[in-house]
Amino acid sequence: MEKFNFNEINKGFYSIEQGAVRSFMFIDNQNILLVDTGLGGNHLLKQVRDISNLPIKVIYTHADRDHIGDAADFEQCFMHPAEFDYYYSKATVPTPMNAVWEGDVFQIGDYCFEVILIPGHTPGSIGLLDRKHRMMIGGDSLQPGPIYMFGPGRNFYAYRASMIKMQGLLKDIDWIYSSHHQLKVPSSIVNQLLVGAEKMLAGKVNGEPEPRFGGKVKCYRTDGVAFFAE
Ligand SMILES: [Zn+2]
Repeated sequence: MEKFNFNEINKGFYSIEQGAVRSFMFIDNQNILLVDTGLGGNHLLKQVRDISNLPIKVIYTHADRDHIGDAADFEQCFMHPAEFDYYYSKATVPTPMNAVWEGDVFQIGDYCFEVILIPGHTPGSIGLLDRKHRMMIGGDSLQPGPIYMFGPGRNFYAYRASMIKMQGLLKDIDWIYSSHHQLKVPSSIVNQLLVGAEKMLAGKVNGEPEPRFGGKVKCYRTDGVAFFAE
C-alpha cells in the first residue's frame, strides 16, 4: 500500500498528495470533508482513519477516473448530477451518489464552501469557493494544464462560458488549489484560460502531436496554459 503524504496547508486543511493527482481533506471537531478520492487502490479510507474516526463526506469535483477511486468505500458521496451519466457508465463498484447543486454550502471548521458549477472539462465539473479565505478548489478545470479536452462530454463552448462566469468571481478569490501540477495558482489563471479557450475555438492555436494518446490528440499551448484536444 502506498502511503500518501497528508500535507497540512492550514489548520484543518490538508492536501493529500498521490503522485499524479491530489485530493483535499478538511477536518474539524465533528466531521471530515474530502474533496475527491484519487486513483484508488491505496486504501485512502484506511489512511484517513489512521488520522481520525469522525464521519466523512466526500465531494467530487468531477468523475474522471483519477478522482473517483475507491468511492464505494465512502458512505456519503456527493457529485453534481450532470456527472452521473459519466460516473455510472464506468464505475466498477458504483456507489449511490448524492447530488450537489450550484450554490449548495458545505461548512467545515473555519471553511465555508459554495458549490460553483463550471462545466467544460466535464459536464458536471464543480469548484468549491471559500470567500472568507479567498480561495477555491478547482479540480482539473482551473489550472495551467494541460487540461484534458478530448473525448465524450468535453466542450470548449461550455468551458469558455465557465471561465466568463469565473471572471465574475475573481474579486473574491486570490488562490486556486488544483488537482494536478502546482498545489495552488493565482486566480488570474482564469483570464489566461479564457483567452486560451477563445483562441482554441477560433482555431488560432497550433497543436503539437501527443503520441501517448495516439490518434488525433494534440497538446495546444497558448498564453501560459495548455489543453489536450483533438
Ligand atoms: Zn484529473
